[in-house]
Amino acid sequence: MNVLVVNAGSSSLKYQLFDTTSEKVLAKGNCERIGDGGLFTHKLPDNPELNVKCEIDIPNHTEATKIVVKYLTDPVHGVIKSMDEIEAVGHRIVHGGAFLKESVLVDDSVLEKLEGCRDLAPLHTAAHLMGIHGCIEVMPNTPQIVVMDTAFHSTMPAEAYTYPLPKDMCEKYHIRRYGFHGTSHRYVSGKMAELLDKPVEDTKIITCHIGNGSSITAVKGGKVIDTSMGFTPLDGFMMGTRCGSIDPAIVPFIMEKENMSPDEMNNFMNKKCGFLGVSGISGDCREIEDGYFKNDPVCVHTFKLLAYQIKKFIGSYTAAMNGLDAIVFTAGIGENTPVIRELVCADMEFFGIKLDKSSNDAAHHQDDSVIISAADSKVKVYVIPTNEELVIAKDTEAIAAKLK
Ligand code: ADP
Repeated sequence: MNVLVVNAGSSSLKYQLFDTTSEKVLAKGNCERIGDGGLFTHKLPDNPELNVKCEIDIPNHTEATKIVVKYLTDPVHGVIKSMDEIEAVGHRIVHGGAFLKESVLVDDSVLEKLEGCRDLAPLHTAAHLMGIHGCIEVMPNTPQIVVMDTAFHSTMPAEAYTYPLPKDMCEKYHIRRYGFHGTSHRYVSGKMAELLDKPVEDTKIITCHIGNGSSITAVKGGKVIDTSMGFTPLDGFMMGTRCGSIDPAIVPFIMEKENMSPDEMNNFMNKKCGFLGVSGISGDCREIEDGYFKNDPVCVHTFKLLAYQIKKFIGSYTAAMNGLDAIVFTAGIGENTPVIRELVCADMEFFGIKLDKSSNDAAHHQDDSVIISAADSKVKVYVIPTNEELVIAKDTEAIAAKLK
């Protein structure tokens, strides 16, 4: 089935057209700077000489969708003959709140539930709704399906998702741990479970998605029992520019000292902390890595701090699952930065975790799952490249197929 996967941001609309049978990406690209000029990129993995990059007026998400469809069906740059060959559209949704717990066909009630998520993730939800409305307008007869980043985490027990705040306040404002990057955690934990020689019900896996945004998830018997991101994607451990969990009393303290409004404080914690704040150099891991190998004390400290925080999650989730079969590293940093994996897994023999240094050093930029633990390591450690778009395409296919 040809499935168009759409990831709509406030000023961008990323797309990938999948053939779900071969799991191949036929074409992909991005409409950027929507509402502010417009930049369009269109890539053909099998014919890169026909790739397109051009400045083009993109006033809104509906126009962005029209441009995508125009290029997908273009006689030269296209991969399909007509719009009818797009059999379904799958939309990535960052926050499904407590209302949307699994992938679902878009109808009025789903749109209403998404409206209810505006409060929880205002910028993302507004962008997703613009993307969905744009696609409905351009492709009114094509099934639209939504796939939520939060959905995989909806199996968490109450003791994992509850914040110790007054119950009535949590209910009134829907405050709880939701978790994010669910499609990534679902994809890599599923792949990992296949690699373990035991029934999925018996598996205990920790998945470390480490990118610009990062989260760690404990997956027991194929179901999430805990995850590091919380009510928002700010919770957990330090990220590129986000602070992760800090003593909550630091928040009003800084606000008072620096005369910051709630918005300014929120922006500060999301944009000025993490690698960037600690190092004062950059939020990009590659720049810290350069400094680390030059023995720059600030970069060494930044990486040690990150590794220490991840170690503590691994320890607590091993306790929560009463055991551990495998750890998976994924996303930009998890897949491409061996030294972080080495620092995380160092001195973990007590937990039965032992890396194979040469396999770990060799594992970056690879397309497939690769084992990096030593032969005698009780816990298997893998690097598994994530593929969130494929999960969205497959869920979309499954739901659209039932409509035929
Ligand atoms: P996002 O959360 O935006 O999806 P990614 O998963 O793409 O983030 O991760 C981006 C991070 O991964 C950056 O800190 C970057 O420095 C780091 N990284 C390291 N090596 C690579 C690489 N080869 N390609 C992309 N990102 C890399």
